[in-house]
Amino acid sequence: MQLRFASRIILSVVIIEALMLSLLVWNSVRLINTSHAELMEQSLNEKAELLANSLAPGLITLDRALLIDALAPLKKNPTLLYATVYGLDNRVLAHIGTKIEKRSDLSHSHHDLSFIEATEDGVFDLSHPVVVSGQPLGSLHIGYSTKLVVALTKQTRFQNTAIAAAALLFSIMVTVAIGLFLTRSLRQLKQGSEALQRGDLDHRIEINRSDEIGDVANSFNQLANHLDATQKELELEHTKLLRQTAHLNNLLNGVNAVIWEAEPESGCFTYVSNEAKNLLGLPIERWYHPDFFHKHAHPDDLQCVIESVTDNSSATGRFSIDFRLYDESGHTIWARMISTSEYNDQNELVLRGLLLDISEQKASEERIVYLAEHDSLTGLINRRRFQTILDQHIAYAERYAHSGGLLFIDLDQFKYINDTYGHHSGDEYLTQVAKRLQRTLRNTDVLGRLGGDEFGVILPRVEEGEAEQVATNLLEALTGEELIHGEHASRVSASIGIALFPEQGTLPSELLARADTAMYAAKELGRNRYHIYCEQDVRLARMHDKVRWEDRIHQALENDRFVLHYQPIVNLKSGAISHYEALLRMLDDDDTLIPPGAFLDTAERFGLIRDIDRWVVEQTIRTQGVSEKRGEPVKLAINLSGRNFGDNDFLELVRNTITISNADPHAIIFEVTETVAVENLDKARSFINDLRELGCSFALDDFGVGFASFHYLKNLNVDYIKIDGSFVRNLHQDSTDQVFIRAIHDVARSLNMTAIAEFIENDEILAILQEIGIDMGQGYYLSRPQADFLPVQTIKGISGKATLSQEVAG
Ligand code: C2E
Ligand code: MG
Ligand code: MG
Repeated sequence: MQLRFASRIILSVVIIEALMLSLLVWNSVRLINTSHAELMEQSLNEKAELLANSLAPGLITLDRALLIDALAPLKKNPTLLYATVYGLDNRVLAHIGTKIEKRSDLSHSHHDLSFIEATEDGVFDLSHPVVVSGQPLGSLHIGYSTKLVVALTKQTRFQNTAIAAAALLFSIMVTVAIGLFLTRSLRQLKQGSEALQRGDLDHRIEINRSDEIGDVANSFNQLANHLDATQKELELEHTKLLRQTAHLNNLLNGVNAVIWEAEPESGCFTYVSNEAKNLLGLPIERWYHPDFFHKHAHPDDLQCVIESVTDNSSATGRFSIDFRLYDESGHTIWARMISTSEYNDQNELVLRGLLLDISEQKASEERIVYLAEHDSLTGLINRRRFQTILDQHIAYAERYAHSGGLLFIDLDQFKYINDTYGHHSGDEYLTQVAKRLQRTLRNTDVLGRLGGDEFGVILPRVEEGEAEQVATNLLEALTGEELIHGEHASRVSASIGIALFPEQGTLPSELLARADTAMYAAKELGRNRYHIYCEQDVRLARMHDKVRWEDRIHQALENDRFVLHYQPIVNLKSGAISHYEALLRMLDDDDTLIPPGAFLDTAERFGLIRDIDRWVVEQTIRTQGVSEKRGEPVKLAINLSGRNFGDNDFLELVRNTITISNADPHAIIFEVTETVAVENLDKARSFINDLRELGCSFALDDFGVGFASFHYLKNLNVDYIKIDGSFVRNLHQDSTDQVFIRAIHDVARSLNMTAIAEFIENDEILAILQEIGIDMGQGYYLSRPQADFLPVQTIKGISGKATLSQEVAG
């Protein structure tokens, strides 16, 4: 056991003192013993000598009485035990005392040489010869008791020992007191350091001394003060940090997205915010599992996600991917992962970002795509989608060297049914026909609605004979039973044109035109039949109606019988006119206006649309130049057909016309239909970019009809999206249309494009569009197309009465 410092000092002092005192006591006892004995010996010997001398007369005379008298003074000595005087013959001549000397001892003239010897029998025996003038006379023997001396010595030894013990005790007490006093400061220092150890920073050492211990205490107190102040500062900082952390956590967890960090090598999450729990309904720990993506990502997306997350080749950078995750109950969630990687202070690569639930956006995109790709009446795919699928099948047929068939079906009596029984019944009729057609076809065949009463069928892998068989089956299915539509029953018949691919065409539009021509021939041949396309059919078509239009277009171009009318596109919030759309009209012989719908189809079919477009472009750009010159500049939109897309001559024409007519290219907008734009996406993109470089803007026209894929929108660099009139016309009666328009509005906004609604025909439609937040609009309710620009800059119809005017020839 380790003794404390004070105890060690005290113990050492006590041991030293005890040793010294013992030595002192031992020495004093020894001294007392010898000194007592020596004194006694000396005095008794002197006394005996004196007595012996005083005995001489008695011995000379042998007078016993004289001898007794000489011995008499001895009687007073209480320690005297005997005194005997012997004559020369050893005869006792005189004797006093209580004790008789042992006779045996006499012969040896016994006496104790030292006091120590005497203490053995308790009698100090002395003998002294009595001699006078050299003549021995006898001897004197005296015995004294040693008891008194022994008792005295004992008492002295006892007292000395007691004094020494008392002294030792006292000195122990004093030493302890001194020790305690001396180590008090050390104890205080120790208590202080223990207090620090416990974290009690209020403890101070109260030592007012100017020695080293005082210095240590002062230093200690200063240290404690410093620690206390630092601790308080740290506590303050800590509270601040806690508050900041809580604030950050609230922010992190309040964000409607998962904020995450991942380990760049493995792609494992190292942190996810609380929102992760809500996203998948899984406990947070599951997100940190190394196999998280393997367990929860859609197998089709897994590789892409893992590659994106672990691809550190570009070191720092961003990526964004959309992928599917499974939630706790196995439902699919679409997530968008936006990530950035950067180096932190320690020069380590860190990967962090957001994970957003975009399921709703995806659903609405899918819904838009669905709406855009399907015919709302029959649920069949629409013309555009049909064309896309046809394109794929043509490519397959070419690639694998087999052939396929395209059937163009046109109902024979639909116009009659519609006119006679009304639209409702007509719609029902079409729906029933679609069902009948669908029932007759195989799963692998593709059925779509191409227009009012036109249907198309793709037979992916057939020879001519099989295609004819399918056409026969379809005709039989249609004519077989009367069709019940509403309260009516009618017979159905159709004319079917067949074109085979890839032999008779490798472009969907070309193939459709041929099947259409064949269908036209079937009609010519008496309806309710099919006809396979052949060269003569074109001539047949030309010979009839369509030929007439081709000539008329030629003539109109030559004789300047085309005019442009202008319809304003209006800001739906302010009523201000943003720009005008130039719309083509042909002037009849009597100057009545012929709408473009009557001749554009034919122009397209016979390749005249190029010339028309060139005429319109020149005309419109010139008009813009004039408006600039007049100081009343207008912005004009030009409709472009697909034929001029990617055509360098056309680009040159635009450039030259702008230069020559001093037009402002920023005031020119080109409207292209998505059908055209999407048919050759790469060409469209570079063409659009070329014209944009000149300063022109772009609008995607008739958006929503036959839209192949929503994704194209992202790929085309356009400024305006013109929502097709068919979605607007019934807006006040059709909630599906409202959903569609809302979705387009959101999409346009997210892509930073301006949405324009066509066909605003009444105030109800206007109000709904305004409520949805559509930016711009165009329609008869606001203004019909006019031969000239409006004298006003604002359409009052937005806030009050509409400016309605009748379209008349200019
Ligand atoms: P678009 O480009 O979608 O033009 C809008 C059409 O909707 C115009 O018909 C316009 O008169 C009509 N419209 C405007 N507001 C309303 C309304 O409230 N209700 C209804 N029912 N219709 C409205 P338009 O002038 O008959 O032109 C038809 C289509 O012909 C145009 O559709 C465009 O695709 C094409 N087109 C017109 N002019 C040209 C042109 O110069 N070149 C080319 N290539 N195509 C043209
Ligand atoms: Mg247009
Ligand atoms: Mg349009």
